[in-house]
Amino acid sequence: MIRQFELVEMVKSYDPDMDEMILNQAYVFSMKAHGTQKRASGDPYFSHPLEVAGILTGMQLDCDTIVTALLHDTIEDTVATYEQIEELFGTNIARMVDGVTKLSELEYTSETLKQAENFRKLLLAMSTDIRVLLVKLADRLHNMRTLHHIQKSEKRSRIARETLDIYAPLAERIGMQELMNELESLSFPHVYPEAYESIMKRLDYLHDNTENIRDEVINELEKIFLKNHLEVEVVGRRKQPYSIWKKITYRNVSLENQADLFAFRVIVDGAEDCYRALGVIHDYWQAVPGLLKDYISMPKPNGYQSIHTVVIGPQRKRIEVQIRSTEMDVIAEKGVAAHWRYKNHASKKDGVHYRWLRDLLEILEHAADPEEFLENTKIAMYQNQVFCFTPKGELINLPAGATVVDFAYAVHTIIGDNCVGGKVNGEPAQLKRVLSNGDQVEILTSKAQKPHQSWTNFVVTGKAKAAIRRNTRKQQNNEYRKLGEDILRHSFEERSREYTKKAITAAAKKLNLKGGAGIVFEKVGSGEISNREVIEVIFPHLKENKHSLGGGLVKKRVQKSGNNQLPVKGLIPGRPVHISKCCHPILGDRIVGIVSEGKGIMVHTIGCEALDVYTDAPEAWLDLSWQAHDDNTEIYIGRVDIMLKHVSGSLASVLALVAQDDGNVSNIKFTERSVDIFRIELDLEVRDVKHLTDVMSALRASKFVNSIERAFA
Ligand code: MN
Repeated sequence: MIRQFELVEMVKSYDPDMDEMILNQAYVFSMKAHGTQKRASGDPYFSHPLEVAGILTGMQLDCDTIVTALLHDTIEDTVATYEQIEELFGTNIARMVDGVTKLSELEYTSETLKQAENFRKLLLAMSTDIRVLLVKLADRLHNMRTLHHIQKSEKRSRIARETLDIYAPLAERIGMQELMNELESLSFPHVYPEAYESIMKRLDYLHDNTENIRDEVINELEKIFLKNHLEVEVVGRRKQPYSIWKKITYRNVSLENQADLFAFRVIVDGAEDCYRALGVIHDYWQAVPGLLKDYISMPKPNGYQSIHTVVIGPQRKRIEVQIRSTEMDVIAEKGVAAHWRYKNHASKKDGVHYRWLRDLLEILEHAADPEEFLENTKIAMYQNQVFCFTPKGELINLPAGATVVDFAYAVHTIIGDNCVGGKVNGEPAQLKRVLSNGDQVEILTSKAQKPHQSWTNFVVTGKAKAAIRRNTRKQQNNEYRKLGEDILRHSFEERSREYTKKAITAAAKKLNLKGGAGIVFEKVGSGEISNREVIEVIFPHLKENKHSLGGGLVKKRVQKSGNNQLPVKGLIPGRPVHISKCCHPILGDRIVGIVSEGKGIMVHTIGCEALDVYTDAPEAWLDLSWQAHDDNTEIYIGRVDIMLKHVSGSLASVLALVAQDDGNVSNIKFTERSVDIFRIELDLEVRDVKHLTDVMSALRASKFVNSIERAFA
């Protein structure tokens, strides 16, 4: 066990200004808190936080991190509380300890790789301070180093798999090659015992039965660099069994000779020397085309810099050489920890709260490759995401602000559609409840439920929004279809024709509508095409004279204006006249004319809102009145606004009532719909105001009509 003064000396060696008092205090506090607790190895439990602290001093991390390491299991495993730690060690350290505790509380359960990726993001998202993640990784490393003390083999392999799936890739992501290698090597034999065994056998065979190429490569490299007056250090490191295995399984390469077992590294002083060294190597050995990678001008997102090349070396064997400077080498091995050390030196004294993201982004800024840039933004995005669990422990990854409904849709579209409520961490929650990291969410469903338009007010995910929109459109289209069929059936009856769906299907073809009768119903119901258009393609001979009102009057559409035939007094001879579309004045209405340059005379009802803009232009106004005569044959269109009960048959009955009174419906438009009400704009063809008033009072008397009014806009 590391002794108290030893730990202090270790930190002091790289940080002479450290706060000795607080470190001593943490040492004693943790030792007392863990008391007589024991590890699986039989060692006192305190040895664990102490070793974790030791690992972190190896990365030369600051005193706060070392203190956090000493305390990291006290909240979870002892009677110590957050408040106690805050009082003794301050808010910063208490928060970091709490952060590590939260990461430890997350149990990784799922087996799938996709889940692992989400879980890694969750850990990143929750590590608001990079040091929290570093303590967690060191904690895992020590647990892996002592894994053999755990009795049950299933438990060993579960922990090892978690390490391989979650923690080793995290170490890689923040650039800690060395840590990643050790985590992988410790896990590999527990997770894939057979693969491990066969790789090791193969490695033994290659060592025993092929020439030792390693020394030969190192010797030759040293010789040529000497000749070229370049001072370098050449290393031939054995590749890790797990990384060899990854290469074999993912890239499908075979292990043929010893050159495959080593990564040769040439370490030089500065960046320019890297390129010189590369030139020297390529002069001497032939390079394999296409395998040169320059991570110096384009560093990896995690800050890694190096030049990789593959050459045909001694015995015509391919060898891989990495060229980098001393500083690049430290960063490649220690990653964010090294970076943290370099960058943080200046700002440490300011007590600036250090955020891992800022640091990572600084590294990422140098990434020039678009793919790397994408990776960069992805990491930044983790801070805007929440990660929640299903009751079975599956992780669901959502954008920040996501609600219960978003969660439901993320699980499955049908779950989202039928979602009636939820439970968050066992407590009932409303659909619009915003979720937080780590929430466990259970969705309650009902088959009777349908997505509600109002959900779009609070959902944030595209999937939920699209599903809700799709569904309201579907519901609306269904209503349009029912309505359109009602309208058409009625139009047939009105013309004493037998209604058949077949006729409508034929009409769809003639109208060039794909989707058969259904689409015709939909378009008529929505008012996109009029019932008359449909009738006219089915019965072309009805076109000329059958749009009759009572009395067989032949209709002339006044709206196709431009004529001066209107029975209106007060017009200016020679000036064209138009019936305004905004207020639909009809014979008998009190009317005025507006004279406008180039447009002729517009006839409005006296109450029309469109007249407001002419209040200050009296010269534009023209006094008009109707000139009724007995043989009036004009047809006018009066627009009415109806609130109708949303029950089946209600619309058909309205249409029947209009027909009974010799009116005709020329257009129907839905303006609102709800569970129990339709609001419709009906354009009624009538002879005059009295006719319209009659139709309206007949409608008003209907049990289906809640209200009816003339619409002037
Ligand atoms: Mn621990």
